[in-house]
Amino acid sequence: MTQRLTGGCLCGAVRYTYEGEVGAAGYCHCADCRRVSGSAFGVSVRVAAEGFAITSGAPKSFVKPGDSGRPVARFFCGDCGAPLYTLPPLHPEVVFIKAGSLDDPSVVKPNRQAWTRSRVEWAEIDSSITSYETSRV
Ligand SMILES: [Zn+2]
Ligand SMILES: [Zn+2]
Repeated sequence: MTQRLTGGCLCGAVRYTYEGEVGAAGYCHCADCRRVSGSAFGVSVRVAAEGFAITSGAPKSFVKPGDSGRPVARFFCGDCGAPLYTLPPLHPEVVFIKAGSLDDPSVVKPNRQAWTRSRVEWAEIDSSITSYETSRV
């Protein structure tokens, strides 16, 4: 089902839209997502790069190998610092939108969690959802 999503950063300088199929959403407990979120874990939703567009502002990016060893480009607002989305360089067809940056985060239904071996004790997620000790693949 095609959906239209909108979102942006905390200060409003960076805005984006997405139109297309909304993919799976999940929690990530990896150390990098924890640090980027400033909280216990990241929550992101997979969308198709061809339907994703920045409509205002110019996000900055930071590239670092993730726990998987593969580089991940993380995009954020250079003014307010809000995390916005990540791009896996090996999969340019995919964008992972940070669910908390959506104007309507209720469109996202996280149903999986990754990197549970890195989970902090104070971050308990419903253990009945599909769980992966490391990355999903
Ligand atoms: Zn901002
Ligand atoms: Zn992660």
